[in-house]
Amino acid sequence: MAAASQTRNLQMLSAALHAEPDWSAVLFQGCGFVPDVRSLQSWLDLAWEAGFDPEGRQQVGRVTGTRKWIGVTDAAALLRYFGIRARIVDFETKGTAHECDACGAFPIRGSRYTSSVLPDYDLCEACWRLNRSPGAAPFLEVAQAAPISEAILSWVWAYFTEEGGQSIRAPGQEGGPMVTFAGRPPLFLQHQGHSRTIAGVVRTQLADRERLDLLVLDPSSRTSHLQHALEAQNKWQDLTLVSGDSLNKSHQILYVCPGIANPEEREQLKVMQATAWFQCREVQ
Ligand SMILES: [Zn+2]
Repeated sequence: MAAASQTRNLQMLSAALHAEPDWSAVLFQGCGFVPDVRSLQSWLDLAWEAGFDPEGRQQVGRVTGTRKWIGVTDAAALLRYFGIRARIVDFETKGTAHECDACGAFPIRGSRYTSSVLPDYDLCEACWRLNRSPGAAPFLEVAQAAPISEAILSWVWAYFTEEGGQSIRAPGQEGGPMVTFAGRPPLFLQHQGHSRTIAGVVRTQLADRERLDLLVLDPSSRTSHLQHALEAQNKWQDLTLVSGDSLNKSHQILYVCPGIANPEEREQLKVMQATAWFQCREVQ
């Protein structure tokens, strides 16, 4: 990816923050516009020099004039430098998979039964029901954690809906979908070296359940493709909707809390820590 597309998530987020007078007054020292790539890089170097996210600085080094990738932690350090309360949520997959010690199934899917008398002795549900290891009984059931996609989708849904917002019916369609403008800035979603902007979330009522999809702008896809698709009302969903199936990997989300940090809080913001951490099940 070119340097330009690597800072586009940050530029989109900055543009949204400029709409709020409190943030606009401090962001990039109140310049009122979104800086170009090189200026963003210099701001990040300044934030690091001021002591924001010392670990990140150590890992990345200087960025100005390079093609280095700017990730969520770097973006958070940059925003925090201006007193903006940028925070990070970590969605991580559970580290260890377990093997059934009776039938050898690996990894154990669904509930796992762990021996309360033998160390590190586990059964799958089928073997537990068949009582295949009476010598290791009794067993404790270890409930399966929620899939990572569910944790991400419900977190994003709560983020965009908890403050209410203004709802209107989508234009041009009688009985068409309701659109709610949440009044909260977009989110910055990252999986390893790939980051995207979450602009919203789409809820669809199916016969037996509700389905959530993320409404996403991907800086690595071409803006002209999306523009054509939107103008033609044709397959824009393929370019913007991200379903839960593709989210079952570790992700980080950057979000911005309302208000501006005072000088004391700004000092504390120099240390980068995830504010919430979800450990979830990985779904293959
Ligand atoms: Zn088994």
